[in-house]
Amino acid sequence: MGIEAALSTDSILTTQLQRVINWARRSSLWPMPFATACCGIEFMATACSRYDLARFGAEVARFSPRQADLMVVAGRIGIKMLPVLQRIYEQMTEPKWVISMGACASTGGVFDTYATVQGCDQFIPVDVYVPGCPPRPEMLMEGIMAIQRHIDNEGIPPKGPDGRRIPLGLTVEPTYTPRPQPVPITIGR
Ligand code: SF4
Repeated sequence: MGIEAALSTDSILTTQLQRVINWARRSSLWPMPFATACCGIEFMATACSRYDLARFGAEVARFSPRQADLMVVAGRIGIKMLPVLQRIYEQMTEPKWVISMGACASTGGVFDTYATVQGCDQFIPVDVYVPGCPPRPEMLMEGIMAIQRHIDNEGIPPKGPDGRRIPLGLTVEPTYTPRPQPVPITIGR
């Protein structure tokens, strides 16, 4: 990986085992995309060549929960889908992380109806909220990097005294200022 060229062959590297474990964990997040709507398309764009999520070691999207440790909730969740979301989350391997991508996953978005979950964090612990409709790929990457930074420093997710998972509850700042709406409508005679 190039490190052999940078170091002479008789060098010795020392580090803490925990740091190596954290480094390995943060460099191999495997996403489980729970993509139910248009935000899923943005996730696909993030994984494709232009944005290249592989640079962060997180391109191995798995649809088998036992092989994934990063759930990306991308899209609105219907009440009927909720048990499926929870089942998949429970089947994922520990330590696991959750990103709520987009307004629909975090708040229900414009779908303020009885059939739509008004925020998946009411039912699973969300570590990072990525705002937008849809968020840009850069913002999703920022969310993934926020989790990577936490793993680098802390390793595993925090748990309360009762053993329950405590969500990180981080929010990614938007990277752009929304432009004003187009010119006002005038009706001529
Ligand atoms: S936040 Fe916007 S882009 Fe994402 S699923 Fe909802 S409507 Fe679609």
